[in-house]
Amino acid sequence: MTQLSGDTIVVATKNAGKVREFAHAFGKLGKNVVSMFDYPNLPDVVEDGTTFAENARKKARTVAEALGLPVLADDSGLEVARLGGVPGVYSARYSGEGATDASNNAKLLVELAAASLRDAAAAGGLEQLADGTKLLSDARFVCALALYDPASGEFVESEGYVSGAIMDKPRGNGGFGYDPLFYLKEHGKGIAELAMEEKQAISHRGAALASLLDKLA
Ligand code: IMP
Repeated sequence: MTQLSGDTIVVATKNAGKVREFAHAFGKLGKNVVSMFDYPNLPDVVEDGTTFAENARKKARTVAEALGLPVLADDSGLEVARLGGVPGVYSARYSGEGATDASNNAKLLVELAAASLRDAAAAGGLEQLADGTKLLSDARFVCALALYDPASGEFVESEGYVSGAIMDKPRGNGGFGYDPLFYLKEHGKGIAELAMEEKQAISHRGAALASLLDKLA
């Protein structure tokens, strides 16, 4: 069991949705959650690690040492099997400077079209859904969490995953990022077809958070 010093945890994000999720979870442990919205003058931490965990650790420790408070940081992204785990830690900026969700998804389809044609020729075809949508590759969303307490100098860390496949065309209107192309085989649905609460219940972030809370409880 790990004990955290003080009543306050800082979440190193400016994403309001993530702040809400983390505040809800840590509220149950009697902790008050504040975020980067409360410290607008802190510079952004450069995410130059080679793994999600490395980026999360760097963010947590840098902000914790600046503030003298326990800090929780996350890093997440998409790993596509047929592309050897790409885009991985480059998920947000996959299509380069000024990348948007649309340009990242477009690049993913271009890269996967060539790779999946080549591999499918060898393996005898791609898996197809009832409406003719092709599944181009297995894939997973990954979330790494790192909580650093400057009082003890200790990290508590966790990871969470959602497994699925990349479709050759989008489905659903929900979510963000790569959600429109991500198919959940177990649910028989695109992840962008789920309601927000349904997605949160199965999400990589939710799984990572549950695992971190287990380590703290
Ligand atoms: P970050 O961890 O918030 O910086 O997310 C990095 C990038 O990973 C995002 O810009 C998205 O492209 C992708 N990503 C992370 N989580 C999700 C998700 O739940 N759905 C779709 N894309 C995601």
